[in-house]
Amino acid sequence: MDIEFFRTLIIKTRKNLQLQNAEIPEGVELDQSRVGRLSRMDAMQGHEMTLEARRRRAVDIKRMDEALIRIENDDFGYCEACGEIIAVGRLEIDPAAQYCVPCANTNEQ
Ligand SMILES: [Zn+2]
Repeated sequence: MDIEFFRTLIIKTRKNLQLQNAEIPEGVELDQSRVGRLSRMDAMQGHEMTLEARRRRAVDIKRMDEALIRIENDDFGYCEACGEIIAVGRLEIDPAAQYCVPCANTNEQ
């Protein structure tokens, strides 16, 4: 297990997520006098989706933080449910993965 590779990957992923969240404006301007009702609803819906994407990224940032803590504690790469080693291929896709594939499948059912 190349811990340094994953540490770098997690820090990079976390940074990208933060940059993406920083790019999104805080609010949406709703000019009711100029914008029709339907397009105003579009704007609000778009804003909701933006907020949802931002919320998901915030969750991912937190997962990356937790993965970094696991690296510091030498717990990284071990399943939190059964203690088995998590496949490297799985960690390459999601370095913040907390469970091995069998446990993740069980949890999702
Ligand atoms: Zn497991």
